[in-house]
Amino acid sequence: MYYVPDKTHKCGYYECRECGTRFLSLHLEEVIPCAYCERDFDPEIGPDEEMVASNAEAMLVKVIEGEEDVEKWDKLLSLAITGGDEEWL
Ligand SMILES: [Zn+2]
Repeated sequence: MYYVPDKTHKCGYYECRECGTRFLSLHLEEVIPCAYCERDFDPEIGPDEEMVASNAEAMLVKVIEGEEDVEKWDKLLSLAITGGDEEWL
C-alpha cells in the first residue's frame, strides 16, 4: 500500500484543485489541505498562519470502502504517479 496502511477498510479519494494530484487519505472530510502542495509552503510561515496560507485544497471525489477496493485504488493511483497509464479513469 502506498497511500494508506495495509488493511484499510475505508478511505477518501481526493483530487487537489491546485496541483491536480490524486491521492488516498484516511481523512473523510469534504476538503483537506493538499499534502503535496504543502511541501512547497514557506517554512517561515508561522503555525498560526498555516491554515490561512493553505489555499491548496484537495476535494473529496469519493469515499472508497472495502479492503479490496482500497487496495485496488491505492495500486492504481500509485501507478499513475510513477508514470503508469492513466487511461483507467
Ligand atoms: Zn496539491
